Amino acid sequence: MADNGKPKLALYWAASCGGCEIAVLALHEKILDVAEAFDIVFWPCAMDFKTKDVEAMADGEIDVCLFNGAIRTDENAHMAQLLRRKSKVMVAFGSCSSEGCMPGLANFKDKEQMFQFIYKDSPSTDNPEGIVPQEETEVPEGTLTLPGFWNTVRSLDQVVPVEYYLPGCPPEAKWIEAAVNAILSGELPPPGTVIGMDVTVCDECPRTRQEKKITRFYRPQEIIPDPDICLLDQGIFCAGIATRAGCGALCPSVNMGCRGCYGPNEGVIDGGAKLISAIASVIDAETPEEIDAILDTLPDPAGYFYRFSLAHSLLRRTNLEEIDGKKVAAPYEGVPRLDPKLKD
Ligand code: SF4
Ligand code: SF4
Ligand code: SF4
Repeated sequence: MADNGKPKLALYWAASCGGCEIAVLALHEKILDVAEAFDIVFWPCAMDFKTKDVEAMADGEIDVCLFNGAIRTDENAHMAQLLRRKSKVMVAFGSCSSEGCMPGLANFKDKEQMFQFIYKDSPSTDNPEGIVPQEETEVPEGTLTLPGFWNTVRSLDQVVPVEYYLPGCPPEAKWIEAAVNAILSGELPPPGTVIGMDVTVCDECPRTRQEKKITRFYRPQEIIPDPDICLLDQGIFCAGIATRAGCGALCPSVNMGCRGCYGPNEGVIDGGAKLISAIASVIDAETPEEIDAILDTLPDPAGYFYRFSLAHSLLRRTNLEEIDGKKVAAPYEGVPRLDPKLKD
């Protein structure tokens, strides 16, 4: 607690698009209640705080840290470990922090492959000297450093212990508000709780469901869907059948299939595997050839099934390949917490 009796709150972003920070602002005028109720001691996106401000705090001095973004660099991991040490309660805020989300899709590649494409091969790149970022660069004034870039994106709980998860890409304002109220009232759920609902998006979706028999998938631009019938019944991929509710079925309400941003529903360890199982059960095919033909209408199945959850899945990442005769990292098999060898 601060001297003024208010709980101390920190907000931080790691490998993040910034959407989760904007989601906090989506509280609108209630943001003033948050500012009134908490002593905000660290929020570098919005105010002029420095890392040394956190370093100067006593361990456990921060009451709650809302941490958004995945862990993909040495700096992300350093800040996660620093804020963990200084905070009583750590909340994985949003899909990137909870599951790896979009940054985690990079686990289909490794650092070498990404740098090769981004800095050398991509059609919009003009880099004739093939310069890529270096962790250390000597200049007359001394050594410039950049944080080390990891091969593998991790969720926050693969790097430090986490008390609560606030899912969503980004979380809906009503759940941020619910989390804030729970913290202020002291009525916190058991550690490990995902703050939200324990049913699926289908349970919030008003569309009429029939017996599903899918003979092909349609991309959104290929079909004008009936506004009242389940999108999946119409062949539009919808992850709502295996996704935690809480958003009010936002995407199906505007004719877009759910992409799964609220993560797997309660009790599911691997959201992608659950989704594969759910979709497999509604495909109307009798032979492997028919199954293949239907799946051919679903572009980028790995991206559809693991769009938000690859880093946190049982797969975690693809095995890495040899590049220029160099094995860049061993296949990923679990992560020890707070281990300096996390780097790859
Ligand atoms: S969860 Fe979504 S909105 Fe939040 S930082 Fe990640 S990509 Fe952005
Ligand atoms: S449209 Fe999606 S969320 Fe709605 S009922 Fe069908 S599968 Fe479920
Ligand atoms: S419908 Fe699905 S993808 Fe859309 S906001 Fe809800 S959980 Fe996220």
